[in-house]
Amino acid sequence: MAMTSMNALALCTCLCATVLQAAGHARQSPAAPQFDGGKAYDHVRAMVGFGPRPAGSPALEDTRKYIRAQMTALGLKTEDQAFDVNTPVGRLHMVNLRTTIAGTRPERLLITGHYDTKLYREFRFVGANDGGSSAALLIELARVLKARKNLWTIELVWFDGEEATLPDWGTGTDHTYGSRYYAETAKKTGDLAKIKALILVDMIGDRDLNIRRETYSTSWMTDAIWSTARELGYGQYFPNDGMAVEDDHMPFLNVGLQAVDIIDLDYAPWHTAGDTLDKVSARSIEMVGRTLVASLPKIESKLAAGSK
Ligand SMILES: [Zn+2]
Repeated sequence: MAMTSMNALALCTCLCATVLQAAGHARQSPAAPQFDGGKAYDHVRAMVGFGPRPAGSPALEDTRKYIRAQMTALGLKTEDQAFDVNTPVGRLHMVNLRTTIAGTRPERLLITGHYDTKLYREFRFVGANDGGSSAALLIELARVLKARKNLWTIELVWFDGEEATLPDWGTGTDHTYGSRYYAETAKKTGDLAKIKALILVDMIGDRDLNIRRETYSTSWMTDAIWSTARELGYGQYFPNDGMAVEDDHMPFLNVGLQAVDIIDLDYAPWHTAGDTLDKVSARSIEMVGRTLVASLPKIESKLAAGSK
């Protein structure tokens, strides 16, 4: 018995030393944080809690305050790109929010999504997935990318005014106000030359995730993301069939930038009172977030090689 006790003591000492060593090692090189769907879901819940958040509303200002506070807590600065614009429902004040995360190179990779929700007067529309999920993904992405060694400087952009103010999207310009303002301003000022490409996420929180390839998107960027989803075991959620969707990436494609839209438009409660928190899952946002982060090395190296 004594021998066993001695052995046990020796084993304990050995294990303790190993644990201490591991802890010491962990302090020297902390593991990169993984994209956490639970944290992203908490952000969706918080924003849905502000109520309907159409462009120009006090609830959207509350949303901006929330996003800015999240970035401040990460030690990141948020800049407003504010503008006033005439819409079919009157002149509205809109604000794109921009947060920059340092990279080795100064040229920027834009990672974007909209944070406004569609205006409905006849029912209460809180846009948990449509508006909430994209805004939340960007917040959680900031936490992950701040700890990553990024080749290109990352600029996260929360676009205002993606939604049409009228019930229908239509053929005119009553939509994508924030992204059009950003792209047109960047073209005018010459800032466009400092942007390498754009990644857009929209409606990526659906419990029943089904993200088709968006066919206006730059195909090598879609390839990079869809192949990464397969490598991570998420292939069934990223089918290879295509679907054309007009979204916030269009103004950037129109000024000659490379861009990809990650969107699940196969969503039954889309633009209905049913787009509520229970239709969104932490797991769906997490799969998209992890796919996006894991695809960055491919996208960075392709951009460095001058892919078109
Ligand atoms: Zn929408």
